[in-house]
Formats: sequence, structure tokens, C-alpha cells
Amino acid sequence: MHELSIAEAIAHKVRERAAGRLVSAVAIRVGHFRQVVPDALEFSWTMVTDGTGLEGCKLEIEQIPATVSCRDCDSTTTLDIPILVCGSCGGSNVTLLTGEEFLIVSLQIQEV
Ligand SMILES: [Zn+2]
Repeated sequence: MHELSIAEAIAHKVRERAAGRLVSAVAIRVGHFRQVVPDALEFSWTMVTDGTGLEGCKLEIEQIPATVSCRDCDSTTTLDIPILVCGSCGGSNVTLLTGEEFLIVSLQIQEV
């Protein structure tokens, strides 16, 4: 499962950054092009963190829409499906502006 490996990757990075501190929430940003199903990712996150130091840590997912800029008609459009075409003229002479994000935005460290 795609989401499971993503959840594992996030958990790995969170552990690195937290360096032993208790983390109560993790905020991440995922682009539309990553084809991540938020529900599935949350489920995988619970599976991956259960029984570890990250158990009970909340995963907050912010989805970033995929937008492209077209070199033919100069418009910027948002993509609903992950195919690189201009939403205005249908041309494929486009540059992906957003949608490929996959980053950890912040960690909420629990005070002890
Ligand atoms: Zn266009």
C-alpha cells in the first residue's frame, strides 16, 4: 500500500526531528499529484505509530491542489486529475507549479 510507505517515511522523519521528545501532533502538506488518500494515510499512520513512541500522535494533513501554468495560453489552472494538461486550452505545454509537495510542516512537541 502506497500510504503505508508514506506513513513510515513520515514516522522516520518525525523521530529524527523529535530526538526523543514526545510529539503530540504532526502537520504535513501533501500535493494532489502525490495521489494520497487522506483517510488511508491516517489509518496507515495509526498502524505505523501504534505501540511506538509516536502512539497517539495526531497527523494533520493539508492537501495542496495541483496547479499548472500553460506556456501556450498563459493561464494558470487547477488540475482535478493528475494529467499534465492546461485546463484552459487543453495543451500539454505546461509547467507544474504546485501539487508535488510532500513535507512535514511542523511538529507539536508535548511539554513535560
Ligand atoms: Zn493553455
